Amino acid sequence: LMENDHIHDKFKGLSEMASSISHEVRNPLTVTKGFIQLVINDPSLDNNKEKRNSHLGLALEELERAEAIITDYLTYAKPYENVKLQTVNVIEELIEIKNIIAPLAKIHHVQVQFKYDANSDSFIKIDKKKFHQILINLMNNGIEAMPLGGILRIVVISKKQDVLIQISDNGVGMTEEEVARLGTPFLSTKEKGTGLGTMVAYQLLAALRGKITVTSRKGHGTTFFLTFKRVFPKITELPEQRIH
Ligand code: ADP
Ligand code: MG
Repeated sequence: LMENDHIHDKFKGLSEMASSISHEVRNPLTVTKGFIQLVINDPSLDNNKEKRNSHLGLALEELERAEAIITDYLTYAKPYENVKLQTVNVIEELIEIKNIIAPLAKIHHVQVQFKYDANSDSFIKIDKKKFHQILINLMNNGIEAMPLGGILRIVVISKKQDVLIQISDNGVGMTEEEVARLGTPFLSTKEKGTGLGTMVAYQLLAALRGKITVTSRKGHGTTFFLTFKRVFPKITELPEQRIH
């Protein structure tokens, strides 16, 4: 069991990151363009289906890489954009997020469990889009850590001053070294990983003044603990409530 809550030091500034990421997306697009131009312009490939398909296969792989980077980085929030704070009910947000990750969980034979105290309001002040990106990136990692299926557990605990969100998987887990380097940009142990998901999650969390702690055991699983300051809005300050 180990922890990592001194992560922020190793990050570059957000806007610096943005330019390095646009570079990371442009590279695979340039390679894709190259292979497609090759296929169009090389008449010998008309009689060489194998070579032609190999070019197109590589182009497709590069496109998938660009797509993965955009998913981890830009699906829900432009990290370098201003934070738009609003008061939200964490439970409602997590129900929405759970629906968003449901298809990926299903493909990986992962059951998603969500536990919370229905009698306790859990309001926090956050930027919704950024909050979604954080949670989805961490949940995607949890799901991907269980290649043979498993359980992704989401627990919300309302404390006096804070709201605690736990995201646990019973997947591959990490060594102490792997936990320590979480959040290092472009570092991935996956064949088609981006190494951006946790970095983006930590950056956005810092921007929202959330805290994160990780415990992990190799071969057993991982839990991320997210803490946000709890707020107690007056009824008139509440967002429109959805009716359950
Ligand atoms: P990616 O998912 O594209 O590899 P991330 O930045 O999201 O990039 O994660 C970086 C690395 O951190 C992963 O490749 C993996 O080794 C490790 N990691 C993150 N979350 C988990 C988890 N829940 N269980 C095991 N390893 C994890
Ligand atoms: Mg990831």
